[in-house]
Amino acid sequence: MRQKIVAGNWKMNKTLDDALALASELIGMVNDEVRGDVRIILCTPFPYLVPVARLVGNHAMISVGAQNCSEHEWGAYTGETSAPMLASLNTSHVILGHSERRQYFGENGKLLAAKVDAALKHGLTPIFCCGEPLEVRDRGEHEDLVRSQVEEGVFHLDADALKKLVIAYEPVWAIGTGKTASAQQAQDMHAVIRQQIATRYGQATADEISILYGGSVNAGNAKELFAGNDVDGGLVGGASLKSREFTEIVKSIL
Ligand code: PEP
Repeated sequence: MRQKIVAGNWKMNKTLDDALALASELIGMVNDEVRGDVRIILCTPFPYLVPVARLVGNHAMISVGAQNCSEHEWGAYTGETSAPMLASLNTSHVILGHSERRQYFGENGKLLAAKVDAALKHGLTPIFCCGEPLEVRDRGEHEDLVRSQVEEGVFHLDADALKKLVIAYEPVWAIGTGKTASAQQAQDMHAVIRQQIATRYGQATADEISILYGGSVNAGNAKELFAGNDVDGGLVGGASLKSREFTEIVKSIL
């Protein structure tokens, strides 16, 4: 059985007090209302990883994740945060290759492959993001682009390492725009990714990997988007900043 996952990407939002209030509300709602097998990952800004992790404690369902890490382990890289640093904070997951990092910070496949290696080496679970801009979909080249992102970022791994990953399909045109892929478009792309993994690593490996949909998921559309056979949950941006809405999204996967 693949793990069902709902991850919140808080991006660069919230003061510390607001972040702690959001985390406390969420923990309370999850405790009161969420019953079932789902992993909830709160991907906070770096400065809030430790205080949010303290609030979360050893929660059975909730983990804390970062939104990026360096490809380097240590040294003279001013402003960077490395995988071993995150591991020392008890951070369990790290988002890698988010389209905002690809677009605004020039992250490419080669760099992301190195970041994936760094994360895995230190026991972090990468949430590896892929997805096409609108013009690529309009040209009908979205499957090819996403396949090449997956191949460049993670196909250097052996099957045992690959099985430790979570993949997030996030069409760029749906991120923060209020436009979502249709449930069919999401399922189709998840199936393409799973088939690509099956072709390279075998069906058994492909069947173990959780593939999340991201792109304007909210409490109103989550159930439909999560219904596809190959959709194992979501990576949620804007709607993860509201405790009630995020809790409803979590409940939609169960
Ligand atoms: C994201 O940042 O990964 C994301 C999917 O954002 P949003 O839900 O706001 O579209």
